[in-house]
Amino acid sequence: MSRYTPMIRQYLEIKAAHKDAFLFFRLGDFYELFFEDAIKAAQELEITLTKRDSSQQDPIPMCGVPYHSASNYIKTLIDRGYKVAICEQVEDPKDAKGIVKREVIQVITPGTVMDASMLSEENNNYIASVSHFEDGKFVICYNDLSTGENSLALITQGWEAVIHELFNQPIKEIVIATNLPKEYQEQLKSRLQITLSYQDEVNFNAEYRGLCENINDKRLMEGFSRLLNYIQYTQKRSLDHLQQAKVIKLKEYMSLDMYSKRNLELTETIIRKGKKGSLLWVLDKTVTAMGSRLLKKWMERPLLNKSHIEKRHQIVEGFLIGFLERNTIRELLKSVYDMERLSGRIAFGNVNARDLIQLKRSLQKIPGLKEVLRQFSDQEVRLLADQLSVPLELVDWLEASIVDDPPISIKEGAIIKDGYHEQLDQYRDASRNGKKWITELESKEKDATGIRSLKIGYNRVFGYYIEVTKANLHLVPEGRYERKQTLANAERFITPELKEKEQLILEAEEKSMDLEYDLFTGIREEIKAYIPQLQHLAEVVSTIDVLQSFATVSEENNYKRPTFTNNHVKITNGRHPVVEQVMSEGTFVPNDIYLDEKQCILLITGPNMSGKSTFMRQLALTIVMAQIGCFVPADEAEMTIFDKIFTRIGAADDLVSGQSTFMVEMLEAKHALTHATKDSLILLDEIGRGTSTYDGMALAQAIVEYIHHKVHAKTLFSTHYHELTTLEDELDRLKNIHVRAEEYEGKVVFLHQVQAGAADRSYGIHVAKLAELPEPLIERATIILHELENKDETHHDVVEETTNPQSQLSFFSEEQLSYTEKNDKENKIIQALKNINLLELTPLEAMNELYRLQKHV
Ligand code: ADP
Repeated sequence: MSRYTPMIRQYLEIKAAHKDAFLFFRLGDFYELFFEDAIKAAQELEITLTKRDSSQQDPIPMCGVPYHSASNYIKTLIDRGYKVAICEQVEDPKDAKGIVKREVIQVITPGTVMDASMLSEENNNYIASVSHFEDGKFVICYNDLSTGENSLALITQGWEAVIHELFNQPIKEIVIATNLPKEYQEQLKSRLQITLSYQDEVNFNAEYRGLCENINDKRLMEGFSRLLNYIQYTQKRSLDHLQQAKVIKLKEYMSLDMYSKRNLELTETIIRKGKKGSLLWVLDKTVTAMGSRLLKKWMERPLLNKSHIEKRHQIVEGFLIGFLERNTIRELLKSVYDMERLSGRIAFGNVNARDLIQLKRSLQKIPGLKEVLRQFSDQEVRLLADQLSVPLELVDWLEASIVDDPPISIKEGAIIKDGYHEQLDQYRDASRNGKKWITELESKEKDATGIRSLKIGYNRVFGYYIEVTKANLHLVPEGRYERKQTLANAERFITPELKEKEQLILEAEEKSMDLEYDLFTGIREEIKAYIPQLQHLAEVVSTIDVLQSFATVSEENNYKRPTFTNNHVKITNGRHPVVEQVMSEGTFVPNDIYLDEKQCILLITGPNMSGKSTFMRQLALTIVMAQIGCFVPADEAEMTIFDKIFTRIGAADDLVSGQSTFMVEMLEAKHALTHATKDSLILLDEIGRGTSTYDGMALAQAIVEYIHHKVHAKTLFSTHYHELTTLEDELDRLKNIHVRAEEYEGKVVFLHQVQAGAADRSYGIHVAKLAELPEPLIERATIILHELENKDETHHDVVEETTNPQSQLSFFSEEQLSYTEKNDKENKIIQALKNINLLELTPLEAMNELYRLQKHV
């Protein structure tokens, strides 16, 4: 240490407390970085790496960014998941004894950015904490610093459930304890790819008691403290805008695991990771940024409570009927500013006068909005109006204090209206009078000297001056004018009385600018009192926005209001909301679906590309839409409320976690089988595809049987194993359906129509033909297919073997019997009857055996 200068020693001390951040160390007009930080930052930011004390033996690597343009550099680092500690001089260098005192005034991290340029309007920017407890439970807390929102959830179903909950949320940073098991830490990094931060201090700061008055659970409190303490450590200032923590009772929402969130492409597509092509892309007709953020939240958590869902439907219906009024609402909302984030910035003390004018204009729209809502015939819509309360005195105050078109800077005046503050008016009078006097002086001097082109100007260096062109210099009155500056074709002069007035004007202007700044910051401070009211208003406005968006999209696409039943799903002419959008109008083929307790598994066959997976996803998306409160793409929809949706769709490799396709398939299936209930929906698309045929088919069948006997969830199961269609005979709640395709002139024509019964054959080779694989290859495949089809008997044997609990009966496959003597057959049946151990069979199994034997007679 001692070999370093005092300043570097100061740097090292501060750096030691902020090891995981780039330390931006303020030196005059620059933020400097040293040592490792400098080397890494120079690379990341593409700036020049220099050396400090290069005369020394061991010079210190250094780089720097100008104070004024620092925010762009900071943004780059934050976007890449780094943190930046801002270290400022906290005393005036003039007052410093020795080295100027410096302190870190804020640590900017991906989860705690406040700067509008670093935030996406349409997305929340969450920082979360994950805490683990000895009882095997976990607590997840969320905070969005830009909006002040806080929410807490207790996870009772183990670590996997934590990952499922966090997956796909706009979380930028996760705060954990240093002793969270390493394996979990690794998973957070690899499966979610989010910046990790550490906070072990979990004592609750009494200052924040008000944020969680209603919470008694020690675990929730500990998790919340971890998060708040970390935020406090990074922000080092008051966090007035933080809202009461809401406890998310996960049981009140439909559970969508990470596989479903991804596979169903609710808010982003799998491949491009963009909004386009997702369900959100179709449903988002919101007009405010707050609304689009809320819509996303609703999509993450569809509701389970029927009356809550129906209330949303009721309002959507109200909005649908009153379409003219709805258009007015949309227009009004368009000029409503992001009050939610604005509240956050007010609390942080970084709003400017323009923001406050925007706030005023937004608030001025609210009475109009209320008025329109009151015109609706629907009672629920009218109730929304009552929830909109505008702090009118705030509007009046902003109207009286701030000019309509203020500058961005808050230090250069021109913000406060005349008549708002007496002293300010006096300064302004002084300056205006002075300026008027100067204009008068100009004409007076013109007359006195006879110089028509004489003019009075102003610049920062010389102040006010009288300018005379070279041609007129001979007319300048000797003695009275004092020469100040010579230009190419003019001279500039001053007079004592001009300077005297200038002094008065400048003084008044300076004082008025200072006063304006003080007045503005005072207003900004006092407005903090309105934050809770603004936040509430923002919440109601965004709710209205989302519901009008549902009405708008339902009108545009002819969605219908679903009704809820106790046990069946009956959808008439249902469509896939996204696929129908990307197809030309009227070309999407609608389909019906029926499911109830007696028919809860549909086994779907049909050629590749016929529309099996579209049909399956369509149902899941329709359910999600209904349960978030939107209308659905169908002519009619009766449905039950689903508690969970599980999916195993497509062959999306989980490359990130390095698992094989087949392993992912099995994990997804396991997840569904362990967590599904009779009220859940399971979609299994071509399960077993990732392994050899028999293996896959055996697993697929065993999975269907398991769901049928044990889980009872409503299930759609698509398969290309035609052999499985015989399951219909054995599993009484399973029904075959197929997607129709026809062969026409040697080619397959997809009709996309779902019908009862199994598909009669696989059209794989035809699809290959469509894809224009070489003709000889297609011919060869056709020959191989025939060969395989002829060997079919052995094939079926395997199926029987795997399905049949009583293996001694396996020789009863139809194929075998076909070449056995009739007599022989009867003997075998008698033998089989004798072999049955009645004591070991349940009545149901006995029935099945009888049925099986009877089939062979
Ligand atoms: P599969 O799962 O049977 O291989 P997909 O569901 O992936 O088939 O559908 C293949 C393509 O067929 C889709 O991309 C879509 O363009 C079209 N398609 C599917 N269902 C329909 C439908 N009901 N109406 C019109 N086109 C459809």
